[in-house]
Amino acid sequence: MSFCTAINCMDGRVQLPVIKYLQNRFNVEFVDSITEPGPNFILARQTDVGLMLSILKRLKISIEHHGSIGIAVAGHYDCAGNPATKEEQTIHTRDAVRYLKRRYKDIDILGLWVDENWEVSELSLDDL
Ligand SMILES: [Zn+2]
Repeated sequence: MSFCTAINCMDGRVQLPVIKYLQNRFNVEFVDSITEPGPNFILARQTDVGLMLSILKRLKISIEHHGSIGIAVAGHYDCAGNPATKEEQTIHTRDAVRYLKRRYKDIDILGLWVDENWEVSELSLDDL
């Protein structure tokens, strides 16, 4: 069995698009889902310690027990948890990815955006 990990919004509209995208992107059978409202903002700000620990605990299980080969942080259009523009959310996602890359240096970590048509695209974060 092969796994990757999605750190995604809890919003029901983005679950299947992100799972399907990541199954193809990482060529895995299963996508572990860690969901919160606006997780890109939570991981960028790192102010809610309890929530940070909860997310990291779930991520650790996905990586250590399932051997997850990749992590994605997703933001999306019309997010109730992070009601910022795409441009602002892209910065949040970039900061979230950078934070995770410091903890997990040997795993592929990427940022996603889900648009108003619920289509997923990969963000280019290195130039920001
Ligand atoms: Zn959301």
